[in-house]
Amino acid sequence: MEHTWELLGEAAATAIRYRETLPGRPVAGPVDPAAILAAFGGALPSEPCPPGQVLEELRRAAEGGLVATAGPRFFGFVTGGSLPSATAADILAVGWDQCAGLTVASPAAAAAEQCAGEWLKDLLGLPSSASVGFVIGGQSANTVGLAAARHHLCAEAGWDVERDGLAGAPPVRVVASAERHATIDRSLRLLGFGTAVVEEVPAGLNGAIDTVALAEVLARGGPAIVCLQAGNVNTGACDDLRTACSLVRDHSGWSHVDGAFGLWAAASPRTAALVDGIELADSWATDGHKWLNVPYDSGFAFCARPDVHTAAVSYTAPYLVAEGGTMGPADHTLESSRRARGFAVWAALRELGRDGVAELVDRCCLLARRFAAALADGGAEIGNDVVLNQVLVRFGDDARTDRVVDGVQREGTCWLGGTTWRGRRYLRVSVSNWSTTESDVDRSAEAILRVAASASRG
Ligand SMILES: *Cc1c(COP(=O)(O)O)cnc(C)c1O
Repeated sequence: MEHTWELLGEAAATAIRYRETLPGRPVAGPVDPAAILAAFGGALPSEPCPPGQVLEELRRAAEGGLVATAGPRFFGFVTGGSLPSATAADILAVGWDQCAGLTVASPAAAAAEQCAGEWLKDLLGLPSSASVGFVIGGQSANTVGLAAARHHLCAEAGWDVERDGLAGAPPVRVVASAERHATIDRSLRLLGFGTAVVEEVPAGLNGAIDTVALAEVLARGGPAIVCLQAGNVNTGACDDLRTACSLVRDHSGWSHVDGAFGLWAAASPRTAALVDGIELADSWATDGHKWLNVPYDSGFAFCARPDVHTAAVSYTAPYLVAEGGTMGPADHTLESSRRARGFAVWAALRELGRDGVAELVDRCCLLARRFAAALADGGAEIGNDVVLNQVLVRFGDDARTDRVVDGVQREGTCWLGGTTWRGRRYLRVSVSNWSTTESDVDRSAEAILRVAASASRG
């Protein structure tokens, strides 16, 4: 086992054996974090250890603390799984160990990202002239998009924010829906805006921005950065992007769309209407590791103005620049050195093709509606209009709903989390895994209803 051949072979075999257990194993169970930590050991050993033994120790230590998020009955957060080709491609990316930030350091990684980036723009209905950065996830993509927005509005006001910072800059308005994702606030913090700057716009019943209220807020002052959303984390609702982006354009502002999972609605003719007008925005954030089902970490920051994108996030050093004066992929991300994310993205898109991505989106939406119908039949209240892949479920009152969440997590057939929506507690279902079947949904709905029946007695 000391030879690379055997070691990496054994690592792949371990991963395969684990993945084969995914459809059958309990999704999660009660764990004792202290016991898992203890399995990883105490103080740093002084003595080296043969790699084969390291692998075996790691396998044993991790075993009890793994959660089957990659499996077909994990409905928590919005996770997605990992398609076979994308998983295999990521194993290659690790084996090849390419430094993907610099074109000169890996022409292959840069080309894979360039090709996959074109495919993504085509699939998601974004302008073909947009730039794209292969970032770590939605948080990073939002930060890049808002950095571009910051650059643009400051430059329009005659201010060089990259050189002079925000202190003393002309005020930049930031407008966002009350239903924005929490990562928008973190991006605003990191970019020096702070969160208090946000002028909040109310959302409608299902969580999409109220465009009449948006128009009123925009009319109150000068150009603004406007944070829009495709895919509310609770309800799946998408903002009316055509109306909202047109309003922002009329006010010479910048519209950024956080579409971490909801942007994928654009990939299917059945759901594309939800994000109609998407091409009118100035920047977009979405994830690969959610609905596209590529392994973590993978997200995309798109910008309608490539020059603004690079002005906001690129940097140079005499030893880094390649021919043409640019680094390549690192000109569009916050990371400098990083792994070659593009291989897995390219592989997922190549495996599915345009039709396969549309079918994946449709299937998840269909399964979400099946879930909602089965639970409603069993007496649950569905708290949202199931327009995409998200379902909110309530059993009687807050306390009982929380007992059901807790009970489901312990029972192990499936996993989902709780949330607060409009002041009331709900179970939150997200269907975003490529391998989830009707029977997974039926089994899970039955398990939830069983837990709910006993929770009513608790
Ligand atoms: C998941 C999510 C994010 C954050 O994405 P990460 O990949 O976790 O960084 C942002 N916005 C929305 C709407 C999300 O669902």
